[in-house]
Amino acid sequence: MDSAFVILAIMGAAFIGIGGIVSTVFISVGGIGVFSIIPLFFVLLGACFLASFFIHLKKKSDIRNKGTRYPAKIFGYVQDTTVSVNGAYPVNLKVRYFDSNRKVKEAIIPTGFPRGSNQYAIGMTMDIFEYKGKYGWDKDSLRDETLLNECMLMDEKPVEPGKVKRIAMDCPNCGASFQATKGYSNKCPYCGSYIDA
Ligand SMILES: [Zn+2]
Repeated sequence: MDSAFVILAIMGAAFIGIGGIVSTVFISVGGIGVFSIIPLFFVLLGACFLASFFIHLKKKSDIRNKGTRYPAKIFGYVQDTTVSVNGAYPVNLKVRYFDSNRKVKEAIIPTGFPRGSNQYAIGMTMDIFEYKGKYGWDKDSLRDETLLNECMLMDEKPVEPGKVKRIAMDCPNCGASFQATKGYSNKCPYCGSYIDA
């Protein structure tokens, strides 16, 4: 999570700063001894924190700079239960795209959006980056583009066969009722818009 890494960087800088000042004071007062070593450990710890922050940044920029860019369709949302922000789990995007062999791929993009933000609507197109199995995304690429054969991406494909549940749904766009698959993005057979059931 990004916010966690920002906190890590702030703590790292604070440890280095405070540890550095305290050890400077201790050394100037009493010379190098046991007491001057203790604050130096904080400097070392802070340096480790900062290093992991920069490694995280490097990995993120590697995904963007060295990764392959694919246009992808937003297929759904998944909660990131590994971290809680203000008491709620952030939301990652589930996307589908054609890889370089025109095979349909599904990926979870670690967007970490706050819950309830629905700017990235299901069915919209965005650019993602894939580098060594890790994913990133281009924040400025969100658009309404229709991709070639995108019905292949947005068609209902149960991820867990046997857990599929059909429910009656009213299309919020045209008002028609139809059978939808629960938990999936469904295409309205009447107007063609995509609805999350
Ligand atoms: Zn409709």
